[in-house]
Amino acid sequence: MKKFKAESQKLLNMMINSIYTNKEIYLRELVSNASDAIDKRYFNSLKDGETGVNREDFTIDVTVDKEKRTLVVADNGCGMDEGELDKNLGVLAHSGTMEFKEENKGEAIGQFGVGFYSAFMASSSVTVLSRKYGSDKAYMWESDGMEGYSITEAQKDGCGTEVILHIKDNGEENFDEYLEKDEIRRIIKKYSDYIRYPIMLHCGEENERVNSGIPLWKKPKEEVSEEEFNNFYRERFHDYNLPLEVFPVNVEGAVSFTSLVYIPSVAPMDYYSRDFECGLELYSNGVLIMEKCKELIPDYFGFVKGVVDSSDFALNISRETVAHNRQLNVINTALCKRVKKELLKLLTQQRDKYNSFFDNFGTQLKYGIYESYGANRDILEELLLFKTLNSDSPLLLSEYKSNMKDGQKYIYYANGSADIVKSLPQIEECREKGYDVLCLTQPIDELMLKILTSYADVEYKSINEGSERNTERKADEFEQKLLDFMKESLGDKVEKVVLSPGLKTHAVCLSAVGDISIEMEKIYAQIMQGANIKAKKVLEINPEHKLFVRIKTLFESDKDSLKKLTDVLYAQALLIEGVSPENPSRFVDEVCELLGN
Ligand code: ADP
Repeated sequence: MKKFKAESQKLLNMMINSIYTNKEIYLRELVSNASDAIDKRYFNSLKDGETGVNREDFTIDVTVDKEKRTLVVADNGCGMDEGELDKNLGVLAHSGTMEFKEENKGEAIGQFGVGFYSAFMASSSVTVLSRKYGSDKAYMWESDGMEGYSITEAQKDGCGTEVILHIKDNGEENFDEYLEKDEIRRIIKKYSDYIRYPIMLHCGEENERVNSGIPLWKKPKEEVSEEEFNNFYRERFHDYNLPLEVFPVNVEGAVSFTSLVYIPSVAPMDYYSRDFECGLELYSNGVLIMEKCKELIPDYFGFVKGVVDSSDFALNISRETVAHNRQLNVINTALCKRVKKELLKLLTQQRDKYNSFFDNFGTQLKYGIYESYGANRDILEELLLFKTLNSDSPLLLSEYKSNMKDGQKYIYYANGSADIVKSLPQIEECREKGYDVLCLTQPIDELMLKILTSYADVEYKSINEGSERNTERKADEFEQKLLDFMKESLGDKVEKVVLSPGLKTHAVCLSAVGDISIEMEKIYAQIMQGANIKAKKVLEINPEHKLFVRIKTLFESDKDSLKKLTDVLYAQALLIEGVSPENPSRFVDEVCELLGN
């Protein structure tokens, strides 16, 4: 006997210990494995140019035998040889990084679609009899799901696989129902109705076909229940969560296709990582030809999941030819338009839902604008949401614009959450005039705004762009000497030192002149190490603040101390921008020394 791999063992224990309440899904998993196996067999026959093979020749047979307490799911698909039985059923298919959290084991099962193993939820033991297509040898895999399994040579007519479940005896739970024809019919109808091949239910002398065999995306929308759409989504795309939206897109024209498009409600864990592969399933007349066809949807809508079915594609379309396929482009354009339309609909009709969508996938839309250097702005700009200083819920740019005050020339933005922005010295002017401010919370935000430069002819302006805030007050001769001295002592860390009465209660802040903001400097420092792209910084001093009195006194009596104070003020202004002092420990020493005076 061979032992199960560790991950598989854990999963099996979970299955057997019945933590998953929705047990009936085991049948869905087995039927869908059977259907995949037939797909594979059929697809290979087409590729190899084998003749005489018809889709109609395939069936999935489900046989209930109350006496023997068995439920058998059989297919005449590709089958498995000895090695494949060992590899496919001995190791959990989705193993690797999977970790089971004690509290949500059920979710883990739903999420990862762990397929075959779910058979052990209803069975005391499972036998798999399989003969690979093209081979005359058959093998039998057997396991009670406890520790391991055995594989022996066996006899079987024709290629394909039979999965024989030895249904558990009734205990605290009722397992007998899985030997009831009506119950099995109900489960198949519920989860597997769209399966393309006939699912035949056999019980004693009775035989009947259970599924309609019409793919979900080919049925009129009115005839499909929400539950069916949801079940299909969860099973097909291995997402435990319900989808946010689902809509069919059917087009007749130069390229004709039917499709079913889903917008997920939650971004997958790996969505913003390099591992994530976007793309929709591509079918040719009901036969799956590519699982993740990324040419079907633009990257910025890469979160979309779904299926596209068109008889305009050859079955042997390859990865290489796909890239330049004109028909795919046509579909891409049509889907893109439709996704946008649905998002706008959500936006106007169910704002909360849209907000949640944006929380999950907004970053993707922003990258869509940034990476195309703004080429996609027409499609994406009106979908953007921003948290703002004055509004509790995020605003569209159009909403911000219509809230603008008389005389407000710019769309203002600042970096940080509303709470941080609220206490920024640079914000005082805006607050006084009642101007709202976009609160940028992601590094991509400002990069994107720099590319967009304006919205509906209103320019974006960072609140840090001091010269635009018009706060600088002319210094008298004495003050100018003092400012020159401070600038001198800071060297080329700053462009200049100015007086800003607009700071109100705050003593100092930094602003930037020119194209590079302080936030951009920070981002560049992260993404292009050693690039040394610097903002031209302006140190603003509030002449109304009581500290300024001290500055003036020091300038007259103790220039050395003023030099130290200037260093500290500069470091503090940097801190407001989220930049640590170059030498934190010296900074703290200096502050302590000042406090002690
Ligand atoms: P998944 O179907 O999600 O890959 P499963 O645990 O359900 O995971 O199945 C593991 C693998 O075993 C499948 O990927 C397939 O290669 C193989 N398999 C399962 N059932 C069959 C079958 N009826 N015919 C042929 N191969 C099968």
